[in-house]
Amino acid sequence: MRILLVEDDKIIGDGITQGLRMEDYAVDWVEDKESAETALAANPYELAILDIGLPDGSGLDILDKLRKQNNPLPVLILTAYDDVRYKVQGLDAGADDYLVKPFKLDELLARLRAISRRHEGRASPVLKVGGVTLDPAYKIVTKNGEPVDLGAKEFIILQELMEKKGRVLSRSQIEDSLYGWDMEIESNTVEVHIHGLRKKLGKDFIKTLRSFGYKIEP
Ligand code: CA
Repeated sequence: MRILLVEDDKIIGDGITQGLRMEDYAVDWVEDKESAETALAANPYELAILDIGLPDGSGLDILDKLRKQNNPLPVLILTAYDDVRYKVQGLDAGADDYLVKPFKLDELLARLRAISRRHEGRASPVLKVGGVTLDPAYKIVTKNGEPVDLGAKEFIILQELMEKKGRVLSRSQIEDSLYGWDMEIESNTVEVHIHGLRKKLGKDFIKTLRSFGYKIEP
C-alpha cells in the first residue's frame, strides 16, 4: 500500500517513515502543503497522513481540497493540539481518523489498518479468498488452514490483489504498492513474485489477463 505522509517535523516524519517501511508500506514523505498537493496530483496513493500545522498552510486545507474534488482517499490527521475543536474540524472536513502527538507507532499502525478495512468495506481484519487467508496485522497467510511462508514483497502483492479481488490490477498499479518514489523499480519484479505466489498458492489462484494485468477471482 502506498502512503503519502505530510509532516514538517523532521524527527516525527523520519520516525513514521521508517516505522511504516518496516511494516512494508511504501511511503512518500513531504514536508509542506505545496509538495503534498504536487505529490497527490502525480501519484496514486491509497492513504494520506496529514499533519495540521504545516509551514505553508494547514493539513486541513489539503483534506478540504481533496474532498471538494470528490477524492475519497482515506486520510488520517495528525496534530500537536489536543483540542477538541481541531478534532471536530478535521472530522467535519472528511478525515477518517485523528491522532494527537505524541503517539506510539503501534497505535498509528493499528489505526491505518482500521481505516483501510473500513475503506474496503470489510468488517473482519482477515482477508479470505477460496482456501487462502491473509492477516494483515500478523503477516500470516494460510492455505487450507496450513501456514504459507511468503517473502515481504509476495505478501504485499497478495494483500493488494486480495483486497481488490475481482478487479484487474496492472503491473504498474502493483509496483506502486511496492515502492515509494525514492526506491528503484527493477523490471520483472512483479512477474517474479507472482510466479513465486503461484508456486505457493496454486497456479490458478492469480489469473493473468494478457496486456491488462492480474486478478484474483472472488
Ligand atoms: Ca507541524
